[in-house]
Amino acid sequence: MPNNRRVIWRDGEFVDWEDATVHILAQGVQRGSLAFDFISVHETPRGAALFRLNEHLARLVNTCRIMSLDLRTSVDELNAACLETVRRNPGATALRISGLVTSVELDLLPSHPELTVFIAAYSGSDLAARRTPLRDAIKLRVERLKQGRRPEHIDPQAKVAASYTPAIPARWLADEAGFDDVLLLTESGLVTEAPTSNLFCVTGTEGTSQIVTPPTDKVLRGITRDTVMQIAASLGLSCVEADIHVDELQAASEIFLTNTSRGVWPVVQLDDAVIGAGTPGAITRRLQDNFRAIVSGESNDFPGWLHYIEAQT
Ligand code: PMP
Repeated sequence: MPNNRRVIWRDGEFVDWEDATVHILAQGVQRGSLAFDFISVHETPRGAALFRLNEHLARLVNTCRIMSLDLRTSVDELNAACLETVRRNPGATALRISGLVTSVELDLLPSHPELTVFIAAYSGSDLAARRTPLRDAIKLRVERLKQGRRPEHIDPQAKVAASYTPAIPARWLADEAGFDDVLLLTESGLVTEAPTSNLFCVTGTEGTSQIVTPPTDKVLRGITRDTVMQIAASLGLSCVEADIHVDELQAASEIFLTNTSRGVWPVVQLDDAVIGAGTPGAITRRLQDNFRAIVSGESNDFPGWLHYIEAQT
């Protein structure tokens, strides 16, 4: 189904793709206070399924709580609406749920604070071409000019549109220099995350190696991050949350990012340094293979993570 023929859920009803619009003076547009979450949809042997739907909805509710956004739709209603949106949009691979103040407001504080919720299901590959194609293994540029991610400004747990704005200039610079993504640091040079992904690295030598990821006082509690940590534990791999200084990262034998759209995403270059052998490492591959088997329904490990759109008999 082409995206422009799809339907979008808006506060309890379905509207055509091109009718899911808001006014230019809507408070949520002008102030960037748009809460969102992004959920992957997978074709499995038991039909289409949403991955870890409950966790994504809980995160949306948490974003609204942190940002004082007035979400009135209940989680049960959102849950049913997500499933119905996927049913009505066959072939969709992703679901984006957005809540924003759509009334026209001049003040910072809206007089009609209640959010309008939109749920769009679409196929990423059908959307307008990307500026640069996504590679299977990527080059990461460390953002050093504007070092200083400050969790006290916007809580890293809030998925709100405005928190992505500061990373955009850094992404432009990286793009122009031939890199695929950027790594954001704290003022003291500790690793946080990429603008839309969490980071993991493998330290130590074979036999004593450990997977390390920055703690959640600095990064979004990514759902893929949690998934990978649980998969690592089930495989008997040691995986810990710890502060990582950017200088230590250069010495890592493997680095990968995680996010909902890419899953486990190998990093083979950090600034000018080649990571490991310049190809995805063995631990990264193992986690990636296991992750893919779980989301595609091939593996029966973690059965509660796939939320099927049709009841299972
Ligand atoms: N960090 C940030 C800031 C993000 O926006 C995302 C994407 N949601 C992630 C990490 C990865 O999270 P997830 O695995 O839930 O997609």
